[in-house]
Amino acid sequence: EHIKALREIANKYKPRKIPEKRKTLCLSGLEPLEFRKDMNFVNIGERTNVAGSKKFARLIRENNFEEALSVALDQVENGAQIIDVNMDDAMLNAEESIQKFLNFVATEPNIAKVPVMLDSSKWSVIQAGLKCLQGKGIVNSISLKEGEEVFVEHAKEIMNYGAATIVMAFDEKGQADTYDRKIEICQRAYKILTEQLGFPATDIIFDPNIFAIGTGMEEHNSFAVDYIKSVKWIKENLPNCYVSGGVSNLSFSFRGNEPIRRAMHSVFLYHAIAAGMDMGIVNAGQLDIYEEIPKELLELVEDLILNRKPDATERLLNVAYKFEKTETEKVEQEWRKDSLENRLQHSLIQGITEFVEKDLEEALQIYNSPIDIIEKHLMNGMNKVGELFASGKMFLPQVVKTARVMKKAVDFLTPFIEKDKSLTTTSRGKILLATVKGDVHDIGKNIVSVVLSCNGFEIIDLGVMIPAEKIIETIKKEKVDIVGLSGLITPSLEEMIHVAKEMERNKINIPLIIGGATTSRVHTALKICKHYSGPVKHTTDASQAVTAALNFTNEKICQQYALEIKEEYKKVMENYIERSGSKKYLTLEEARANKLNIDWSNIQIVKPDKLGVTAIQRFPVDEIREYIDWTPFFYAWDIDGKYPQVFEDEKFKDEAKKLFDDANRMLDEIELEGYLTCNAVFGLFPANSVNDSIELYKDENNKEIIATLHTLRQQLVLAPGIPNLALSDYIAPKESGITDYVGMFAVTTGVGLERIIADYRKANDDYTIIIAKSVTDRLVEAFTELLHEKVRKEFWMYAKDENISKEELIQENYIGIRPACGYPAQPDHTEKQTISDLLNMRNNTEIKLTENFAMYPQASVCGLYFANPQSKYFAVGKISEDQVIDYAARKGMKKEEVEKWLRQNLNYGEEDNA
Ligand code: SAH
Repeated sequence: EHIKALREIANKYKPRKIPEKRKTLCLSGLEPLEFRKDMNFVNIGERTNVAGSKKFARLIRENNFEEALSVALDQVENGAQIIDVNMDDAMLNAEESIQKFLNFVATEPNIAKVPVMLDSSKWSVIQAGLKCLQGKGIVNSISLKEGEEVFVEHAKEIMNYGAATIVMAFDEKGQADTYDRKIEICQRAYKILTEQLGFPATDIIFDPNIFAIGTGMEEHNSFAVDYIKSVKWIKENLPNCYVSGGVSNLSFSFRGNEPIRRAMHSVFLYHAIAAGMDMGIVNAGQLDIYEEIPKELLELVEDLILNRKPDATERLLNVAYKFEKTETEKVEQEWRKDSLENRLQHSLIQGITEFVEKDLEEALQIYNSPIDIIEKHLMNGMNKVGELFASGKMFLPQVVKTARVMKKAVDFLTPFIEKDKSLTTTSRGKILLATVKGDVHDIGKNIVSVVLSCNGFEIIDLGVMIPAEKIIETIKKEKVDIVGLSGLITPSLEEMIHVAKEMERNKINIPLIIGGATTSRVHTALKICKHYSGPVKHTTDASQAVTAALNFTNEKICQQYALEIKEEYKKVMENYIERSGSKKYLTLEEARANKLNIDWSNIQIVKPDKLGVTAIQRFPVDEIREYIDWTPFFYAWDIDGKYPQVFEDEKFKDEAKKLFDDANRMLDEIELEGYLTCNAVFGLFPANSVNDSIELYKDENNKEIIATLHTLRQQLVLAPGIPNLALSDYIAPKESGITDYVGMFAVTTGVGLERIIADYRKANDDYTIIIAKSVTDRLVEAFTELLHEKVRKEFWMYAKDENISKEELIQENYIGIRPACGYPAQPDHTEKQTISDLLNMRNNTEIKLTENFAMYPQASVCGLYFANPQSKYFAVGKISEDQVIDYAARKGMKKEEVEKWLRQNLNYGEEDNA
């Protein structure tokens, strides 16, 4: 009966279409890693290897797995996209250690996000590891060393576990050291795996052995060349497989001479990647930029690697001592003796403005046209910068500094350009950038703008608060090729949808790039694509924006690219709808019944020492500075490291230090010149909660209501015993008869910033402008922290004996919270109006609200204060229609209006939206 019934139901549906298998290697940790065709070289972190890292070996031997994790984290933060884990050490039980370590890794999402490569020469260790591996990892390795039978057995087991594998070029006769042996073994292994076992070719990664060169033995001289040649052969003859290798072996004989080793690795990779090498075990922090290797060294190293001269080793050894310490100063002097072209390029790539004008004067004597200088020499340099950035060889601050040199150069040359000749710079395309209407945030957009222009795009930056009409008009008038929209606050998401609709209505069909803190791939896929038939792409940082722009403007691939995104977004949308359908919500009534229960009779409520509104104007910058949390500053610049550890970070330390110095120089200047006016205002009021609202009273006795704050309650079904929170839960309810208190604040450090920017704008110095903005952004957060401390200790005085360090302060390890409007605990931006009115914000601080409740100047923060020891930050998450109706009634708004402001938080209406 059942079967019949099931069959009947099933007959109504078409069978699922079996999706076509991808022809790429797809790995995953918590996040996927797909080896797409356009992907750059993939770094495999090598430090979590007891054989390769003394520190890691010691930690594992001491059973200190927590510390050992930090080695892995370091790798990932340094750019490793896969981590190689090896526990082969005579002192260890490798099976046990690898399992324990992998289990530790699984607890740390920042590490577990990348796939793992299980590295061992013992099969039992690999087996142990495979049992603990989530996602899809790589086995390192199998080979024909012990004959075909064992090889096949291992390969089958790997297939069962669904892992990919490294195949070493190793057979019964030993390791392959010549080109012929390498390709012979790889071909044989490939045949067995694919033809005999049906092993997916995409899961095969050959390692044709990188051996040490420069050892003094003649027969070793061709090791590197043979590897590179075999890579090329494998990629051409064994379809769909991949090639990897352990790079640091190569330079083994130059141990102790880091500069030589680094140069060797860079040169080797440069050639091997060109031949098709897909990935490698490397120390990402230890590579030099190929183009930046001193010429003399480069030539010697290249002779050695490419085996161009029989005495290459000897000659490199003869000069090796010179490079033992890279005396940067000496190098800096040296480059001034180089040719004019090289000097110009060096200035560009290193972001040095000092010599540009001098060198250009010289260039004007030599070349007859200033346009030639720009188009031939400078643009070449810029193209190189674009390439280096795209391949991860240059960091964001360096790129932005480069742009400054370029602009300075163009400024200098412009007066020499004859009037009738205009710059016909071969632009890759015109890109319009705008922060949408109602939003004022533009640091990210400015960075993107600079980086795109470094990649040869012509940028029309309309600025902030740009209405759709203006965007449409400009697209038409300027024949724009791509539009980039940016925004930070949630109402901007709605505004972006509006712009997309308007573009559609105007029959515009150019690619649209979406970026900014609250934007997401899901939002883009779900809400924007639906209204716009042209290509749409969401990007999370400057380098992604560049990739997207390059792909969109590349005639050969743009259509395919647009199609791929469309497919991807369709899937994102389907997944999202599927997932959200499975979530369960309480009714508002049920959620309220599960509110946070506080025993108010047992809680000590402190009456603020000073009730009412207090304004603090022109607060000194030098005091605020002390409270800066620097980590987000580095993030803003795409430098992925925590302060102050970032200064120890092999990959980032130099750039981090420079950036930090530049920021502090800017702060000195701000302090000295008194550029910025830092204003704050806060209010402390008697209050009680009534359901999910908070009533504020004129005074404690006569409870005349002066304002009401409205909060939202979580409705998602949570684990038993976990309350459904609303901020109002932290305030004593009216019926308790107890008088409680609530606070609110508004802070800005942005008044006067325009003046600084105007000065640097004249000098065309985007780098310093972005420094100024990102520093001001830090200052306002610091001021907010400082003010919160003052309120706790001096005004409200509920924590007057608090005595914690600056670090703990930045961690917010104190009693009470300051939730900000538009943030997860209070996603409604319109509540800012209440704060603004009560605090007389505009007069007291000079902060204004835009029509979408963004605060201007952008370096401004406002929010509420709660003193309750139980208070913590949380996310309201999605809410149901019943709460929206209730909230609208409480706020005296139309339901549709509330829906507009809280669109991101609605658990319904997705179908009509999507
Ligand atoms: N040290 C950080 C401070 C800002 S971020 C910096 O310098 O950037 C932390 C702030 O964000 C909190 O103080 C609070 O105001 C806000 N916040 C974080 N999570 C929140 C949440 N869930 N709801 C409301 N506000 C939140």
